[in-house]
Amino acid sequence: MVKLKVFYLFLKFYIDLFIGRSLFATDILPTVFDINFLKLKSDYDLVIFDFDDTLAGYHDKLGEKSRKLLKELVDLGFKVAIYSNSPRKRIKKDLDFFAELKLFVSYTKNKPNPKGYFEIMQEFDINPNRTVMVGDMPITDMYGAYLAGIKKRILVHPYSEILSGHKSPFPFSLVRAQERNSCSKLIGREKRL
Ligand SMILES: [Mg+2]
Repeated sequence: MVKLKVFYLFLKFYIDLFIGRSLFATDILPTVFDINFLKLKSDYDLVIFDFDDTLAGYHDKLGEKSRKLLKELVDLGFKVAIYSNSPRKRIKKDLDFFAELKLFVSYTKNKPNPKGYFEIMQEFDINPNRTVMVGDMPITDMYGAYLAGIKKRILVHPYSEILSGHKSPFPFSLVRAQERNSCSKLIGREKRL
C-alpha cells in the first residue's frame, strides 16, 4: 500500500511538473555551504537534510566540511534531522557523529511520501512553517517536503558534481538532471539567500 502511494506520488510529480502547475523548490543554490543559515534562524527552527549528494557524495562518508556545518547549525540553536531513502547501513559510519550532535535520523525511507517528514516534525514538535528541507532531488526532497507543507525547500546541486566524491550512476543522474531542468524553468532563475 505504501509502495502504491509512492508510485502514485511519482506519477503525480511528473504530471504536475509537465504541466508546470507546481513550484516545488523555493530556492536553488550550488551547495549546502552556500545557504545563509544565520539569516534563516529568525524564521526557522528545524532543518532536515537529505544525505546522498546533499551532505556527501553519492554513497560517500560525511566529509569534514559537512561535519563542521552540522555542528555550527546545532550551535546556532537549530534542530537538525537527516532523512535519506538509503538503507540504514548506508549511513552507519556516521551514526556516532549524528548521535554525538543529537541529530534525529529518520529511517522511514519512503520520500516523497510526506509521512516521514511529518514524523520528523512531530519528533521536535515544530510546524512546517518553521521547517527547512535541503536536498538534491526535486522529487523526493522538494516534492515530498512540499506535500508535507514545509515552507522553505532548498534544492542544492548534487554534491559530487560540484565538490567531490562518488557520482551517482548514469540512469539516476539523467533522471535527476531532467527533473532539475524542469524545476529551474519554473523558478526562472537561481535565487541566493
Ligand atoms: Mg540525495
